[in-house]
Amino acid sequence: MLPPATASSVPRCSAIASCRRVFDRIAHPDLPAWNALLSAYARLRARDVACATSAADAILELFVRMLSLAIEPNEITLVAVIGACGELGAVSHGVWAHTYAVKRRLAVNCIVATALVEMYAGCGRLDLAEQVFAAASDRDTRCYNAMLHGLAVHGHGRAALSLFDRMHGAGVPVDGVTVLSVMCACAHAGLVDEGLDYFDRMEIEFGTEPRIEHYGCMIDMLSRAGRLNNAEKLIHEMLIVPNAAIYRSLIRACGIHGKLELGEKMIAELMRLEPDDSGNHVLISNFYARTNRWEDAKKVRKEMKSMGIDKNPGSSLVDINGVLHEFLVGDKTHPASKEIYTMVEEIETRLIECGRRSSASSALFDVEEEDKADTLSYHSERLAIAFALIASNPGAPIRIIKNLRVCADCHESAKLVSRVYGREIVMRDRTRFHHFRDGVCSCGDFW
Ligand SMILES: [Zn+2]
Ligand SMILES: [Zn+2]
Repeated sequence: MLPPATASSVPRCSAIASCRRVFDRIAHPDLPAWNALLSAYARLRARDVACATSAADAILELFVRMLSLAIEPNEITLVAVIGACGELGAVSHGVWAHTYAVKRRLAVNCIVATALVEMYAGCGRLDLAEQVFAAASDRDTRCYNAMLHGLAVHGHGRAALSLFDRMHGAGVPVDGVTVLSVMCACAHAGLVDEGLDYFDRMEIEFGTEPRIEHYGCMIDMLSRAGRLNNAEKLIHEMLIVPNAAIYRSLIRACGIHGKLELGEKMIAELMRLEPDDSGNHVLISNFYARTNRWEDAKKVRKEMKSMGIDKNPGSSLVDINGVLHEFLVGDKTHPASKEIYTMVEEIETRLIECGRRSSASSALFDVEEEDKADTLSYHSERLAIAFALIASNPGAPIRIIKNLRVCADCHESAKLVSRVYGREIVMRDRTRFHHFRDGVCSCGDFW
């Protein structure tokens, strides 16, 4: 059986396009040629966020074609395919690839096991990731890192710390990625002092120098915990030039904690680095809205329009019985669009009956990168959830992959849907996983 098809797409990046042209000129490509092309797409997927989804689509398409030509895949092929499944949150494709590997006796070696751990964790199936990890032999640093990262983004901070102790105790070398995953686990679980402790130990005890990602994680952690002065102090002390992500964390936190002066200082730095980024403009506009500077908020939006800066459209993927459905913000292209919109309205009515307060203006602006007030009910994850409630088997968990940060309003709505409709919702947004069950989220509203 072939894996279910996904929407076709063209890789956007030019380097891969020339790679593809060379491949297309080969009359009868053999396995190494297929693997070289698949691995090129896999590297693109890992390196470039903007191309990740189209690269993953391309990998699955190529894989289907390769099987139809009776080319027998090996471990290298499967690692690329499994990675693509994780990117798309396509768990049914991933299970298929896993079963295929087992059936063909393609040794589930450490590299394949690592890819499976990453894929299952990336699809929201931490239970399956843990099973593969437990069964893997000769676990190396990468394999541990994959499991640590999975625990971190699912908010299992304590479990990540105990796994790290086992790794360290077993003498498996610790690298910069390991420490970053552990710090990230602390950040997502609100374990600020523990996070600071690992950061302090990394150079002397683990022998790895802090990189920009480590500083970014620390500043994000301090900012979200409201320790803005410590975060600002760290920016001044760090030995590397701060990047835009660092300023963004601090601006977001300044909005939440009403620190206007520090926020504006950070905005100036951010605009110096990335004046044309659409996400930055939305972030700044939201910052002003949160600090009750409505005129400034409007001004930023106007500037955005006049500069012709397009916003990154929100999109959500949902896997229904092995077929991926993609929804954009305010999307009306789905064949079941009419039923979906009726369902969205029905959900809204039911949630209000069950005590949901209608969106206050502050909630409208608390939406980070996605901010159009009039499309709030139609943010892509609302459409995906409505469709899943119509199309999936009753009681089955709903799994959604969202490209931006979930906004406060959609987060609140998903919590209520999980209680009112008795459905577990697992949502991966740009920063982490949210497991909504019985009206609460695993992130503890800290994201
Ligand atoms: Zn939203
Ligand atoms: Zn959450």
